[in-house]
Amino acid sequence: METILSIREKISKREISAKELAQTYLKKIEEQDKDIHAFLATAPEIALKEAEEIDRKIFQKEQLPPLAGVPYSLKDAICAKGVRCTAGSRMLEQYTAAFDATVTQRLRQAGALLMGKTNMDEFGMGASTENSAFGPTKNPFDLSRVPGGSSGGSAASVAAGECVFSLGEDTGGSIRLPAAFCGVVGLKPTYGAVSRYGVIALASSLDQVGPFANTVEDAEIIFATIAGRDPFDATTVDFEYMAEGGIDCHNLRIGIPKEYFAQGLDSQIKDRIVKTLDELKHEGAQLKEISLPSVQYALAVYYIINTSEASANLARYDGIRYGYSPNKEKQNGELDLMGQYLQTRGRGFGSEVKRRIMLGTYALSAGYYDAFYLKAQKIRTLLKHDFEQAFKEVDLIAGPVSPFLPFRIGEKTADPLSMYLVDVYTVPVNLVALPAISVPVGKAQNLPIGMQLIAQHFKESVLFRTAKVIERICNPRMVS
Ligand code: GLN
Repeated sequence: METILSIREKISKREISAKELAQTYLKKIEEQDKDIHAFLATAPEIALKEAEEIDRKIFQKEQLPPLAGVPYSLKDAICAKGVRCTAGSRMLEQYTAAFDATVTQRLRQAGALLMGKTNMDEFGMGASTENSAFGPTKNPFDLSRVPGGSSGGSAASVAAGECVFSLGEDTGGSIRLPAAFCGVVGLKPTYGAVSRYGVIALASSLDQVGPFANTVEDAEIIFATIAGRDPFDATTVDFEYMAEGGIDCHNLRIGIPKEYFAQGLDSQIKDRIVKTLDELKHEGAQLKEISLPSVQYALAVYYIINTSEASANLARYDGIRYGYSPNKEKQNGELDLMGQYLQTRGRGFGSEVKRRIMLGTYALSAGYYDAFYLKAQKIRTLLKHDFEQAFKEVDLIAGPVSPFLPFRIGEKTADPLSMYLVDVYTVPVNLVALPAISVPVGKAQNLPIGMQLIAQHFKESVLFRTAKVIERICNPRMVS
C-alpha cells in the first residue's frame, strides 16, 4: 500500500520517475477497473504531461511541490479543466469542464496527478453508487456488494490501489459511508472549511468536499492542502489547517450518544465499535454516555432539506443554459420550448433525481412550505442545540457510520426508503455543519467496518489525532 510519504520518498530519491509512476497507475486502472468500475474516465494525456514536468524539475534539481507525482482521483462532481464531468448523470454526459474547481487547482499546484474521474450516484443522490447513469461500482472487498455512496467510485479507487487518494463530496454521508464500506479513511470537513467552487451542487447548505485516503495521516495532508478561504465561495471562512501529526487521546472526553446504538444497528458493527471504544479508554480516553434527543428526526429533516435544495439547484438543467439538449439530436426535429424542457429533464435525469425534484418542489410550494421546509429548519436548530449541549461535556462524539455492513448490489434499489435509512448516522453532522471522520476499525464477514468521530466546528485536528490512535490499535499495517 502506497501513501503520500512513500511516493514522495520514491520520487525524490529517483527510485521511480513521476511519469513511470503515473503509467503504472494508469495501467493498473485499465487492467483491474473493468471489474470494479470505480472510474468513469481517465485523463492520461494531462497526467503524463504534468508528470513530465515534475520529472523535469527533479532533473534540474528544482524544489518539488509537496504532493509531487502522487496519483489521485476526483469524484465526477468536481471539475478538472479539459476533463469530462458528468456528476453520474446523462444530463451532463457531454459536458467537459472549462475550468478547475478550486480544490482541483490546489491539488494541481501541490503537484498531485489526476488519474481520472470516479463514479457516483447521480448528482450525489444515493448511498450505493447504483444510481449512477453509467452502471454501479463494485466493492473491492466483494464484487457482489456495493461500495457505498454517493462517492463510491472514489472510495473504491483508493481501496483497490488504483490511486493513492481521492476527493469526494459529502452532503449526508457520501464520503463517510463509502469510506466505511471500502475500509479507507474519509473526512467530511466543517461546513465552510473547503471551497465548493467548481463542484456540482446537490444541497448547498449541506455539501462539503473532503478526502479519502489509506491512512489518517494522508487524509490530514490532503485536508491541509485543500482547506481555506476562497474568494469564489462565499461560504468559506478564514481558516488555515496545519497538519500537526499528533497521535493522542489521553484525557480526551468521548461522548457516546445512546441514540447511535439503539435498535437497527447490526450487532457485528456494534461489537466492533464498542470494543474499539474500550481500547480508547485503555489509551486514556474518558467515555461518557450522552443523549442527542433530536437525532431521531434528523433523517426526516435531512430528506426535506436535501430534496428542497436539490429541486432548486437542479432547475438550471433546462437544456438551454445547462445540460442535455434534445434539439441537437436530428431525429427530434425542432421542439418548442416546453417540448425541449420536457425532453431534457425527462431523458436527462434518472428516477431518483426526478423523485427528489418532485418531493422538494412539493415541500417548497405555497401551502406546504410551513408544514415541511420551515418545520425542518426549526428542528435543524434543535439538533444544533443538542450538539452544542453535548460539546459542553465532551471533546468528541463517537459512533458507527452505517447501521449495516456493505449490502448486495440490487438489495435496496426497489425500496428508496430502505436506501435512505443507510444515512441515519451520517446526516445529523451535515445538518449542523460539524466535521466528522470515518476510520476503519476492522471487519466482519471479511467486510470493512468504519467508526465515526465527530468534533466541534473547525476542530479537525482532534479528529485526526484520535483517528490515528484508532488506526494504530485496529490496523498496525496502516501506520507509517
Ligand atoms: N445518501 C445521501 C443522499 O442520498 C448522501 C448524499 C451525499 O452525501 N451526497 O442524500
